[in-house]
Amino acid sequence: MTTAVLWLRRDLRLGDHPALLAAAAAGADVLPLFVVDPALWRAGTVRTARLEASLGALSTQTGGALVVRRGRPEHVVPAVAEEVAAREVHVTRETTPYGRRRDDRVREALSLKQIELVETGTPYAVGPGLLRTASGTAYQVFTPFSRAWRDHGWPTPAPQHPEIAWRTGVPGERITSPCSPDAGEKAARSRWRRFLEQDLDGYAEARDRPDLDATSRMSVHLKYGEIHPRTMLADLAARAAGRPARSTRDDGVQRYVTELCWREFYADVLWHRPGSAWRDLRDELREMPYADAATSPLVAAWREGRTGYPLVDAGMRQLLEQGWMHNRLRMVTASFLVKDLHVWWPVGARHFLDHLLDGDLASNNHGWQWVAGTGTDAAPFFRVFNPVSQGRRFDPEGDYVRRWVPELAHVPGPAVHEPWRHPHGHARGYPERIVDHAAERLEALRRYQQARARRA
Ligand code: FAD
Repeated sequence: MTTAVLWLRRDLRLGDHPALLAAAAAGADVLPLFVVDPALWRAGTVRTARLEASLGALSTQTGGALVVRRGRPEHVVPAVAEEVAAREVHVTRETTPYGRRRDDRVREALSLKQIELVETGTPYAVGPGLLRTASGTAYQVFTPFSRAWRDHGWPTPAPQHPEIAWRTGVPGERITSPCSPDAGEKAARSRWRRFLEQDLDGYAEARDRPDLDATSRMSVHLKYGEIHPRTMLADLAARAAGRPARSTRDDGVQRYVTELCWREFYADVLWHRPGSAWRDLRDELREMPYADAATSPLVAAWREGRTGYPLVDAGMRQLLEQGWMHNRLRMVTASFLVKDLHVWWPVGARHFLDHLLDGDLASNNHGWQWVAGTGTDAAPFFRVFNPVSQGRRFDPEGDYVRRWVPELAHVPGPAVHEPWRHPHGHARGYPERIVDHAAERLEALRRYQQARARRA
């Protein structure tokens, strides 16, 4: 038996890892490889720094065996495989448009050297592309997809290999970033355990409240594959087992499973419609007259959290500072860009991807399309999020806003959502509103009618 290469991408862990088990079964030892692809530079500094932290953790876990090389994968992977005389390169199957094209190129380059690219598993519980409607088409709507997804089910987590023999001494780049306690498989498992113990029971009720910090924050770990969703689904099933059907915990479990299913749904949509990454999934709004965003000072104010709408600004500032934003805020801030500033959704999707640690093409860009009314939601354009009533409802005491907008720290309670009504609301430099939400809502609806009329 020769060495088997395990080429890692969105699967930076050792547990519940079918491709690792396949590599261990195929080779006398396993060389773990990560390729720093020039195309990754598009990911921006926030995500590349986080990626490096995750690689640092994996390097420690493999006793320093992890080899990091730089260059185009179709050059690097065959070269490394030849260096260690491998006959097989093992991967977790990639499902994004770029990943699929890249893997086709690598497979071809490897085959010229009689080396096989072996794909095992995906980063999802149910592989994208697997589920079809009764008529054989892709699912367009979430609810029937989620039913089919649950009915299909998923395998139990892959067993832990007792002891992997790593191939050591192969030269590669040193990982220079300091180890971060928030990155890597150990960190993912410990956050997940904490969430199960402390927040799962209240999740169904509290998940929409950005002031409570009640969601799992597992999106970043899922993004890098530091944990597999199948592991999480198995833990959730174990928690639900033996509980009465309507217990609070059961609500939390069911709600969390549904959220994981959204991630799987969007990956499935992207698999079937790769073009929807940057173009409208449905073309009903193709005649929509959007504003020019390139030089707009309004868009700059949105990006920097200076719109004069406290909930929007709090979310945008959290994004810039932490590289993360609560789901409710992602919807509210996205709606503000598209419906109050009339900007086409890819402008905002790009900004999010540049700053989110969990930036994921499928979830992000289809989340944007859901808000913009061009995506998988049936009748959504006239749903315009009102930043004031959203604030009063989901941040009822205004604590979330005061945490992120220090110029409003002196405004008490829910009054913080309307500083223009408070006698000292603008006393500490908080900006005036850049637009009038009520007027822009009507303008958005006018543009929508115009787009539909032009199309008819
Ligand atoms: P939890 O509430 O704890 O949810 C658990 C998990 O379920 C999440 O980690 C995530 O994997 C999944 N999930 C939850 N909601 C969604 C959803 N609406 N769509 C897809 N998966 C979901 N999620 C990303 O992972 N990356 C992105 O780049 C991203 N961009 C988004 C952009 C917009 C405009 C919108 C509306 C949503 C976006 N989401 C994205 C989905 C969601 O906001 C985040 O997954 C969630 O806020 C992450 O926090 P959490 O892990 O604490 O979530």
